[in-house]
Amino acid sequence: FRKALRETNIDFVTADVTGIERQGDRVTSVNLDNGERLEAGIVVNAAGPNAGKVSAMAGLVLPVEPRKRNVFIFEAREKYADMPLLVDPSGIYVRPEGSVYITGGAEPQEGDGPADPGDFEPDWPLFEEVIWPVLATRIPAFEAIKPTRAWAGHYDYNTLDQNAVIGPHPQVRNFLFANGFSGHGLQQAPAVGKALAELIVHGGYRTVDCSAFGYERVAEGRAFRELNVI
Ligand SMILES: Cc1cc2nc3c(=O)[nH]c(=O)nc-3n(C[C@H](O)[C@H](O)[C@H](O)COP(=O)(O)OP(=O)(O)OC[C@H]3O[C@@H](n4cnc5c(N)ncnc54)[C@H](O)[C@@H]3O)c2cc1C
Repeated sequence: FRKALRETNIDFVTADVTGIERQGDRVTSVNLDNGERLEAGIVVNAAGPNAGKVSAMAGLVLPVEPRKRNVFIFEAREKYADMPLLVDPSGIYVRPEGSVYITGGAEPQEGDGPADPGDFEPDWPLFEEVIWPVLATRIPAFEAIKPTRAWAGHYDYNTLDQNAVIGPHPQVRNFLFANGFSGHGLQQAPAVGKALAELIVHGGYRTVDCSAFGYERVAEGRAFRELNVI
């Protein structure tokens, strides 16, 4: 995507947005941590787990916060190369990844809350105490496995309904959301990018109608719940 953008005369600026200025029902500029101030006809919030904070800079409430999620890699003697993605009713998932396997989904609902956005330290006890017993019960050959690596990241978690918020704020219409994907944003990104581009260029969705994901439901507290979140 970045390569394609560079070919279309786009300016990339590497800096953090530290403030957003608003005049009434329009955002007018963004302030950067390098001291620059960029005038803006339209602002798209694509700040991932930080989206709630960026919205707040424009005085707009967005129920999106960072929630820490861990992924573990393990080796097993048995190779199930054609094994599909398996999701246990507990939420723990496993699938092959080349010659190894990846697994995760062990974070307990109780106590799940906003995470320190700088915390990327894997929670190894989740593998030992929660994931491994579930895997060994489902697939006896996984009693003998060797964890090798792990990483942790943050879901851009929409606390209202774990679904994306896409499109303009109903009052501040030149502030657009592309947020709250809650762990499934990679697979939705191409469609959302296309939909927002159509909205900006043509003033309406043409190929992918994202109106069900609009901010209106957030303002009304009306959930459009995504149930298949792992
Ligand atoms: C462990 C894990 C596993 C996942 N697995 C999947 C999966 O299997 N399938 C799937 O579809 N999705 C998955 N996701 C979710 C997916 O990664 C996200 O939904 C997706 O990356 C969101 O894309 P984004 O562009 O909206 O945000 P991000 O990719 O988070 O990008 C946000 C960008 O905004 C920048 N930013 C933030 N604040 C500011 C600021 N103030 N100023 C300037 N820039 C700022 C950040 O630096 C970052 O570059 C997973 C996430 C995690 C953590």
